[in-house]
Amino acid sequence: MSFVKEELDELSKKCTSEVDSSELITCHQASVRVKLRKTKFKNLVVCLQFGDDYPSSPIIIELKSKTISEKLLHGICNIADAEAKKYLGTRQVLPVLKFIRQFLEDNAFAVCSDELSFIKKELITPEDEIKVKQKSGVLTTNINQKNYFMKLKFTIPNNYPEEQASVEQKETNFPDLFQKMCIAQATEMARQCVAPPLKKKPKDLPFEAKPSLKFIAEFLIRGCIQRYPMEKCVICKETAFPADPNHVVNDPQHGRHVEWVYCGHLFHHGCLSEYMKTPPFTGGKKCPSCGKRVYHEKWKIAPKTAEERWAHEQARQRELEEVVDFLG
Ligand SMILES: [Zn+2]
Ligand SMILES: [Zn+2]
Repeated sequence: MSFVKEELDELSKKCTSEVDSSELITCHQASVRVKLRKTKFKNLVVCLQFGDDYPSSPIIIELKSKTISEKLLHGICNIADAEAKKYLGTRQVLPVLKFIRQFLEDNAFAVCSDELSFIKKELITPEDEIKVKQKSGVLTTNINQKNYFMKLKFTIPNNYPEEQASVEQKETNFPDLFQKMCIAQATEMARQCVAPPLKKKPKDLPFEAKPSLKFIAEFLIRGCIQRYPMEKCVICKETAFPADPNHVVNDPQHGRHVEWVYCGHLFHHGCLSEYMKTPPFTGGKKCPSCGKRVYHEKWKIAPKTAEERWAHEQARQRELEEVVDFLG
């Protein structure tokens, strides 16, 4: 029996038992095809060909996958190539298959390598820090803006992207309520990537889970941490956050407490409070910066009530002035 024939013989006997969740599709001298599957998304087909002087030359490897990016497949192919070269002169098929299977096991980010490189290239600046723990699927970042920072921990579940990426805040000097709202909003955005809407519209296509990592990382890093420390209060036009994070106000009733409203603009509590109590009230109060209706938990009063309160306040003011006039 030729060398290759003997190796194929061994492969057909041992492939499924020695290479976790593998499926031997073809096992010929012309080519070997094996499907490797870790999850629904982490799977690929390994195509192997024996060159003329095999096993003196490395086995020829080609990888195909519908769920792993071309770029990453190319990278895996290169390191598998290097692995094959360690076995020159001997059987290479099983070692190469085991090596690729182990790569899938050890690299949680294999299913989102494009998202990860977007985060590294587009969102992180030289002042920031980023750490990737491939095996556990954890990404930690420390993002800085002005004197503010936020440390975030993103986690990729095993069956990502069908299950959402999660995020936790580990340390920050952002205002307390503000940072909690950022994380809560990101978590909700991630949930919507994987959970179908409660009310389905008749024309909606069947729901399909979308990748959530890049989406929430971009929202938190670019949309919150890098944006808000520079953002001005819509009313007084001063920077809404204090320049020195030691002066951050966490008392929600304090005039300088930062209010983050529905449209994404910032107001000081005092500035917004004043603005919400001043007419016109028709059609609800609008954000002076973008014209969108101001929705905020603290100012949930109907325009009519606001009108009445304002009228009442004005009347009281007039009475007071009259008294002052009289005394004067
Ligand atoms: Zn202000
Ligand atoms: Zn606005």
